[in-house]
Amino acid sequence: EVMDGSDVGHDDDAIQEEEEKSMAKSAHEKLLADRKTLPVYRYRESLLEAVENHQVLIIVGETGSGKTTQIPQYLHEAGYTKRGMIGCTQPRRVAAMSVATRVSQEMGTKLGHEVGYSIRFEDCTSDKTVLKYMTDGMLLRQFLGQPDLKSYSVVMVDEAHERTLSTDILFGLVKDIARLRPDLKLLISSATLDARLLRFRSDFQNSRKEVSRRNKFTKAPEADYLDAAIMTVLQIHEEIETAEEILKQRTRRLGSKIAELIICPIYSNLPSELQSKIFKPTPEGARKVVLATNIAETSLTIDGIKYVIDPGFVKMKFYNPRTGTESLQIRPVSKASANQRAGRSGRTGPGKCFRLYTCDCYNNELDDNTVPEMQRTNLANVVLSLMSLGIDDLLNFDFMDPPPSEALLKALELLFALGALNKHGELTNVGRKMAEFPLDPMLSKMIVASDKYKCSDEIISIAAMLSVENSVFYRPKDKQVHADNAHLNFHMGHVGDHIALLKVYSTWKETNFSTQWCYENYIQVRSMKSARDIRGQLEGLLERVEIELVSNPGDLEAIKKSITSGYFPHSARMQKDGSSYRTVKHPQTVYIHPSSGLAKVKELRPRWVVYHELVLTSKEYMRQVSELKPEWLVELAPHYYQLKDVEDLASKKMPRGKGRASKD
Ligand code: ADP
Ligand code: MG
Repeated sequence: EVMDGSDVGHDDDAIQEEEEKSMAKSAHEKLLADRKTLPVYRYRESLLEAVENHQVLIIVGETGSGKTTQIPQYLHEAGYTKRGMIGCTQPRRVAAMSVATRVSQEMGTKLGHEVGYSIRFEDCTSDKTVLKYMTDGMLLRQFLGQPDLKSYSVVMVDEAHERTLSTDILFGLVKDIARLRPDLKLLISSATLDARLLRFRSDFQNSRKEVSRRNKFTKAPEADYLDAAIMTVLQIHEEIETAEEILKQRTRRLGSKIAELIICPIYSNLPSELQSKIFKPTPEGARKVVLATNIAETSLTIDGIKYVIDPGFVKMKFYNPRTGTESLQIRPVSKASANQRAGRSGRTGPGKCFRLYTCDCYNNELDDNTVPEMQRTNLANVVLSLMSLGIDDLLNFDFMDPPPSEALLKALELLFALGALNKHGELTNVGRKMAEFPLDPMLSKMIVASDKYKCSDEIISIAAMLSVENSVFYRPKDKQVHADNAHLNFHMGHVGDHIALLKVYSTWKETNFSTQWCYENYIQVRSMKSARDIRGQLEGLLERVEIELVSNPGDLEAIKKSITSGYFPHSARMQKDGSSYRTVKHPQTVYIHPSSGLAKVKELRPRWVVYHELVLTSKEYMRQVSELKPEWLVELAPHYYQLKDVEDLASKKMPRGKGRASKD
């Protein structure tokens, strides 16, 4: 505030500052005016009245009508935040971040202050926060620390139609809370009204609110050879980044013959600084192309979309309860999804949807609805969370659509094998510790086990590196050989990707987290920073569960034993051909993923391996693979493996590669 006047140009600065302020002011005024044009605005008063008079409300309104961004603000304006926070759940990380950003702009506050978001490994909230957008998984975890959700006055379970595992579980939990806390307001909002919501409603005998319905202008063209051609192309290049790359190349080749094409990818792991690009207004004369996963189906609203191209596929995780394995698969979409996709076009004017499949296929082959995640996922994580909430009788838990009992049993079996449950089905000390980590049970077990092997420091680095969404190894198309050579350094002198990941992390740490070092070694800086953040949080959690941070970098056996303590169900041994493997417990043929350090040199491949996950593309691939001593399986998981499972060791014979099936 003290000015000595010697600052030349000070007046100009002040003027400019004033101008910027007034520009920002008018931009903000426009935002406020825009709020009033949203369909939900007309229902503001009746909505507030309904919330006042009812504890539980189901809100159905089309995507883009303003449910997510507006309703929490209305409630805030009406004073609900005086009694506690308003929490609003989103099934996707990107949606939570992007919506919070938007709402903070509308409220004219800094992101993370009054309006914030909370996603796994990233908490952007403060003491000031009154509107908290978060992933459904985070609210689930919130229950663990605060079973009555007392810091909230309103909970809005948003995007309920998405049927994610966490949202479905939340349904059961919030229902109890609502009975326990008559002062808590509960909103369930959805883009469509499904049978499950109706059941939920009849459970409460409460009123339902329709926000709005707009006419759709879409029409699905009949398939033709062009469609078929595009479909094939898209099937091959379904990855967004590849599609982006190709589109860029083609448009570059066309030069000035076509108008500028602004290409914006959007998917869950897209770094947040790149996310805002999709919302920027398109300059006159240019066209914006948004390449999206199903995140753009309902979670995000991008204004002004005229054409939608729906290839008709979705990437989904599927769990095989028989083998206990999960794989990411490309499947045809459901009719419900296809309709949501079509609905993204022409919201503000006439639009078209190009469906790259035949009308016949739509009518006769597509399922009506997407299989809820509950029905196709590994439940171990959720079972562990529910058990640590004290819900022991899972068979009688109020699942809206109960999962297959086979999957539930598999989850209990796995938790038992991991030592999280005792033989009476009760949570053990180990299980309680595992539940503190927001990770898959196998990963948390690996961490808890590191206590015994005195290498928790190394293990949380590995766990953090495994939790990073995108690969840390950077492999640009034009420099693949250089990149591969650089990466080889991390694989030298030991066998396994886990140790290689550890080596990358610790070397980076030695360079004081140097960006230059990352460039030189073809390592993704962004992924590394994210690993560092995650590691920091895991370190905090270690303290909470009273595991000492101990470093033991030289003892690779200790590190690998910790890994095996968590990942023993993922073991495989080499078959006679010397390249394929056979999983030990539920025999199936699997291969080392080409990205693995072990894929490069055939001679180095160990006979026994433990892997992080299976991914199904052209083959069933093991990703993140390390060497394993078969006797560890029996030592570390005596309930799971018997000597005969690792018999070629017991009889000192080489494996014959017949994949002798082991009995359960
Ligand atoms: P709903 O939850 O009903 O699908 P939203 O509240 O998400 O609707 O969106 C309402 C409107 O707010 C959208 O139509 C769009 O105009 C605007 N909007 C939402 N998010 C953003 C954003 N991140 N950037 C710009 N505009 C946004
Ligand atoms: Mg929404």
